[in-house]
Amino acid sequence: MKCKRCKETAVVALPSHHTGFCAECFLLFFTRQVERGIKERKLFTHDDRILVALSGGKDSLSLMLELSRLGYDVTGLHIDLAIPGSSPAARGVVERFCEKHGLNLIVKEMGAEGLAIPDVKARLNRPVCSACGKIKRYFFNKTALDEKFTVLATGHNLDDEIARLFSNTLRWDVAYLSDQGPDLAADGGFARKVKPLWRLSEFETANYAFLMGIEHHYAPCPYSGGASFTFYKKLWTDLEEEMPGRKLDFYQGFLERGRPVFARADNEDGVDLSGCTRCGYPTSNEVCGVCRIRDALRDKPVGAEGTDGTDGTD
Ligand code: SF4
Ligand code: ZN
Repeated sequence: MKCKRCKETAVVALPSHHTGFCAECFLLFFTRQVERGIKERKLFTHDDRILVALSGGKDSLSLMLELSRLGYDVTGLHIDLAIPGSSPAARGVVERFCEKHGLNLIVKEMGAEGLAIPDVKARLNRPVCSACGKIKRYFFNKTALDEKFTVLATGHNLDDEIARLFSNTLRWDVAYLSDQGPDLAADGGFARKVKPLWRLSEFETANYAFLMGIEHHYAPCPYSGGASFTFYKKLWTDLEEEMPGRKLDFYQGFLERGRPVFARADNEDGVDLSGCTRCGYPTSNEVCGVCRIRDALRDKPVGAEGTDGTDGTD
């Protein structure tokens, strides 16, 4: 196969776009897809201060590098979850990446915050991933607002978004469906959130990371149980093989025609949020979910059984 743009030998085949590219032209394609994704959804401008959540995986590091190459004002944020083995490896990758490219980095240490994830797993009676997700969202939001960033960017790609959309649709979860997309406005004390890689597949981002020589962290978290998302991604990969381009069409159709309908439905039974009495974080309770997790970890002796007061609500 020849590169569509320069007619050299193609090294990356892209059936969804009915084309293939050599390395140089693929990187140009990637840049254009990121720029198009930013422009189409009006994600941010060169005047914004962008905080990029960096897990150490290929997607978030690719996003950070590409935005800095495009001249955006970016700072990385890494949450060190204090999981033995996995967290030091991920943090090392992120620190080396930022040093190599001269990029600003903020690290939040969950061990120092009294929120080490192994403690959450060992001591609280709730699924560790739901608590961990809540803790990460809390520090993403709080850091963005406290440090006066105007937008928070994450490296979710099209496959991540499709798997989430499919999961939300299977459950007809109106609250989540009204709140999914690459562009979530600042609302109720939460930072504005964007996903600039929404037009790019996992395969395309992996190719970018490889061609740009990005060292990334790929060992799965020892607590990972994301079997359903992996299954949905496989289903959609099979569908895409039969019908190239269907993923992006489905997602764009949802953004243009589906999400507005769900947003209207969700507004009708919206929940009132106020500030947590301890930390000021938006919550529907007196004390937010993360402050309650912290309390439960502090108060509860190791090995104690019974309810921990963290019921999964904010
Ligand atoms: Fe947290 Fe690991 Fe669960 Fe991911 S898999 S949410 S890092 S505990
Ligand atoms: Zn709080």
